[in-house]
Amino acid sequence: MKICKNIRSLKIDLNKIQKNKCLSLIPTMGYLHLGHLSLIKKAKKRKEFTVVSIFINPKQFGPEEDLDKYPVNIKHDIEKLTKLKVDLLFIPKKKEIFDYKISSYRYKPLKIENILCGINRPNYFPGVADIIIRLFSIINPDKSYFGEKDFQQYFFVKTLLKKLGFKSKVISSKTIREKSGLAMSSRNQYLSIKEIKIANKLYKFLKLNKKEINDKKNISKSLAKYKNELLNAGFTKIDYLEVRTDDLRKANINSNNKRLFAAVFINETRLIDNIRV
Ligand code: AMP
Repeated sequence: MKICKNIRSLKIDLNKIQKNKCLSLIPTMGYLHLGHLSLIKKAKKRKEFTVVSIFINPKQFGPEEDLDKYPVNIKHDIEKLTKLKVDLLFIPKKKEIFDYKISSYRYKPLKIENILCGINRPNYFPGVADIIIRLFSIINPDKSYFGEKDFQQYFFVKTLLKKLGFKSKVISSKTIREKSGLAMSSRNQYLSIKEIKIANKLYKFLKLNKKEINDKKNISKSLAKYKNELLNAGFTKIDYLEVRTDDLRKANINSNNKRLFAAVFINETRLIDNIRV
């Protein structure tokens, strides 16, 4: 696996790729787990030239958030990526990434930034837009892979890239979970053993809530009930528990392609998850 730590060497390597080969990008913030690896395996299985980026993007964190303690383990990440025969790993430096000129792209906030995670994390989507525009301008992949665990992010990136005229096809991939059902996340390592036991209950409650919605129970009442259940189970705060359509519009009982979205806290740790309803 080739490791590039600057844009110049990356571009030299990308120029060597055969013209008819599909170039795929999987952007990550590192501390890789099986969720990340599932995206990479998909690209590798399709015999695409697979580029993984590792960059902890400070712009998508709020001032009170976990930027300073975000987990890092580059050595293990490299081992995992080498095993999967990733073609190229891009680990850019902050200065070089943020010096890269992207002024030709006119990013205007999208409507979907004002819902779900955008409400209590106002820096998040502008920060994601910034790094996505930088990475996609530098690499210009044919395809890119995003996890459904961060469904709003996937939908945001897909909409943003289309609006700005990037060629990349944006592909979503299912959420990989622990045996308990807990969605894998680099942030899970913040949890104590006691907190993990609480976290494990999120997926169970989402499934119970889903069942009630599918049984045509009143959606608002069912959501209110499960917000309470979550708080009683030890979650310390609920950012949201909402049903929306696959394109993130408000959903009612008759809408097709619904998803149940949750963002919850256990003390300092914020967890998100969603399931198809
Ligand atoms: P991150 O490193 O958290 O920025 O995530 C990088 C990519 O991996 C994003 O597209 C995430 O949605 C995806 N991802 C993270 N966790 C999972 C998971 N449990 N299952 C599937 N994809 C995931």
